Amino acid sequence: MSRVLVIGCGGVANVAIRKCCMLPEVFTELCIASRTKSKCDALAAELKDKTSTKLTTAQVNADSVEELCGLINAYKPDLVMNIALPYQDLTIMEACLQCKVNYMDTANYEPEDTDDPEWRKVYEKRCAEKGFSALFDYSWQWAYRARFEQAGLTALLGCGFDPGVTQAYCAYAKKHEFDEIDTIDILDCNGGDHGYAFATNFNPEVNLREVSAPGSYWEDGHWVEIPAMSIKREYNFDQVGDKDMYLLHHEEIESLAENIPEVKRIRFFMTFGQSYLTHMKCLENVGMLSTTPINFEGHEIVPIKFLKALLPDPASLGPRTHGKTNIGCIFTGRKDGKEKKYYIYNVCDHQECYKEVASQAISYTTGVPAMCGALMMLTGKWINPGVHTVEEFDPDPFLAALDRYGLPRSESHDPVLVP
Ligand code: NDP
Repeated sequence: MSRVLVIGCGGVANVAIRKCCMLPEVFTELCIASRTKSKCDALAAELKDKTSTKLTTAQVNADSVEELCGLINAYKPDLVMNIALPYQDLTIMEACLQCKVNYMDTANYEPEDTDDPEWRKVYEKRCAEKGFSALFDYSWQWAYRARFEQAGLTALLGCGFDPGVTQAYCAYAKKHEFDEIDTIDILDCNGGDHGYAFATNFNPEVNLREVSAPGSYWEDGHWVEIPAMSIKREYNFDQVGDKDMYLLHHEEIESLAENIPEVKRIRFFMTFGQSYLTHMKCLENVGMLSTTPINFEGHEIVPIKFLKALLPDPASLGPRTHGKTNIGCIFTGRKDGKEKKYYIYNVCDHQECYKEVASQAISYTTGVPAMCGALMMLTGKWINPGVHTVEEFDPDPFLAALDRYGLPRSESHDPVLVP
């Protein structure tokens, strides 16, 4: 029996909420709250006759701690699932602390306004100290560790697929397959085709910021930063085939380097088609990816927000996307004194997802782990006061839940390694 407040009602939240409603014995009552209440009402109306989970809806501006506290104190949830945008992570964490409720999200904090002088000061210090310049990092949310611990509350960060399941794969490899892990390569392949020359599979602003940033990886105890898209590899993915993939900075590298300290190298690769890259480069060159407002004929416009308005809504890609995703981790290291390699991954079919929850596989592979993470917290398996990432918890019940609820694992003990 539980009462859950979900904040956000976009592509990922839609999947997570639909999956929660398939487990009414755990998710007994659920409130869907977001900036645009009509989207919450439409989803609740659609699900009303299909679930015994008691659904309610609310309007909330999650940038306001005061509004969030008003809603949380009125609804009194056991858990707040933040499936809005990374911009809201800190306000929602603050509200959870003030109202004494457990918290989880699917992506780590980054600011909406990258010109904010207070944020820039901390950002520039971090770039100089750590040596990577991505807009997001864990320091902002890790700063809440002591307060969550003292309040006896658990915050689970980044419980989507990557970050999220990829870290559970690392925890599983460490627990069952290796005494020592030397290298981790996280491979995120989307072999899906939506038929558009250019569209993003999740929130365009967050997606394009991530992809156009310099890449970086962890090696021998420090960060190595490289120009965006400057390291390319080819890989033959199970059930997808040959794809080009590029090294990106990704948030789980930071927490994995801290939690698996013996690891010598951690890299993250994502596949991109040539059309996506050409469009992105062109948009970047003409300034359309900028977050700095410009004045256009008397109106203030943020170029990347204007671009978001022009691009297809990721939620609309579901019916037209065909093909599969393949996301997982390849490890090298030692077990019982012997060198070994291991690959654990999931393959997910866009059309199968659409049939089940009316969404493409990118939202599905994020929304299902969010539901499974909530399940772990609500059933007490992943409760540990403080602020934690997925690899800090027991991977076994979580991977068993993923196997059962739509994202089963595949394994290889003789994978081809990435050069
Ligand atoms: P969408 O843009 O589709 O949805 C975002 C939702 O948040 C919308 O309902 C939006 O409301 C709501 N929202 C935005 N700002 C506010 C606010 N100030 N107050 C209240 N609600 C707000 O995003 P996605 O569903 O694609 O992504 C959701 C999250 O999942 C993001 O943080 C993203 O980074 C993360 N993600 C994580 C992945 C992983 O593997 N870990 C992979 C993919 C995504 P409105 O309808 O009014 O715009």
